[in-house]
Amino acid sequence: MNDHPLFEPPDWLDREDEVLAPYAMRTRLSKGRRHPEPAHPFRTAYQRDRDRIIHSTAFRRLMYKTQVLVSQTNDHHRTRLTHTLEVAQISRTIARQLGLNEDLTEAIALVHDLGHPPFGHAGEAALHECMKEHGGFEHNRHGLRIVELLEYRYADFPGLNLSWEVLEAQAMHSKRPDAPEIQPFLTGGQPLLEAQVVDAADSLAYDTHDLDDALSVGLITLADLHEVEFCRRASERVRRRHGVIAPEQFQPTLVRALIDWQVTDLLEQTRERLRRHRIRTVDDVRQAPEALVGPSPEVCALKMDLEDFLHRRVYRHHRVMRMATKGRRIVSALFQEFCRAPELLPERYRRRATSDGLEQTVCDYLAGMTDRFAQNEYLRLYQPHTDV
Ligand code: MG
Repeated sequence: MNDHPLFEPPDWLDREDEVLAPYAMRTRLSKGRRHPEPAHPFRTAYQRDRDRIIHSTAFRRLMYKTQVLVSQTNDHHRTRLTHTLEVAQISRTIARQLGLNEDLTEAIALVHDLGHPPFGHAGEAALHECMKEHGGFEHNRHGLRIVELLEYRYADFPGLNLSWEVLEAQAMHSKRPDAPEIQPFLTGGQPLLEAQVVDAADSLAYDTHDLDDALSVGLITLADLHEVEFCRRASERVRRRHGVIAPEQFQPTLVRALIDWQVTDLLEQTRERLRRHRIRTVDDVRQAPEALVGPSPEVCALKMDLEDFLHRRVYRHHRVMRMATKGRRIVSALFQEFCRAPELLPERYRRRATSDGLEQTVCDYLAGMTDRFAQNEYLRLYQPHTDV
């Protein structure tokens, strides 16, 4: 006789009531999906959203999309994919500490940069310029378009049919709240705390890892960091704890110290704001007079000073500017060429051009490209003796 008891998994929706803070979003309270679907036997709706995002083509393409440095620079710096994973990991840590819905937080983090075109912000600016007579281009709006329409993996619906709260987080991030596809999501006051956490984690992740990458590829040196108060003070913390250490350990230790400082500060500040505004429910979060997740005024000032340094010394470094200029040129040239000669578009896109309009279709095709695909496409169109 075997009396070994089998593990009985708890009903996770009941567990949410037990373990989540009262101001966390509960899966049971979700507004659901555009196309209703039966519940999954063992995954919550937000777990399922996360899985759909990870299995999407757009997600895999993040691997070869520029964060700041184009993907060919070397094999060690961040791409849009590793940035996304860092944001997801920091967001989950914060969410768990605050008692928020970790599955929802993770889904929002994994989807947050899905709409980025190739070549980072340079590619985005170029596409916006190309599309200015046709509604413009913005990565948050395009991200929504991907998950609502462009992904085509499911027989029963277009896109990924994600839960309303994941779409809402993406929409509320848009710089174009007047756009018709954004409007339906702007009904509820402040974003959910889960969305606010991802927003804060995104910002602290890229400030820190852009610094790390800039050091690693030699755009700046450790000595340059003396002009940044945040780095000076974080370096002092590192030295107090470890004494003098070799540069190859100093740099990652400094990066860890910066992340740890910001996350600790963010947790303290957020808890303080939740207390001050007496936040008890999701409705309280919605009606709060300000965003509740964010750094202290002190860290905010240090962060702004760091961002100013990054703008001056990294994002405008001539090597970065060359990549950006080249990226912009490739995007603009491809856009013009496909609009001039739609017969050069792959079959699937050519068919779509008749229903969605030529410019929008070319924009969708371009925005979906990875850096290297866009570069190859440019060579295929403009360079003699290149394989078609
Ligand atoms: Mg991001």
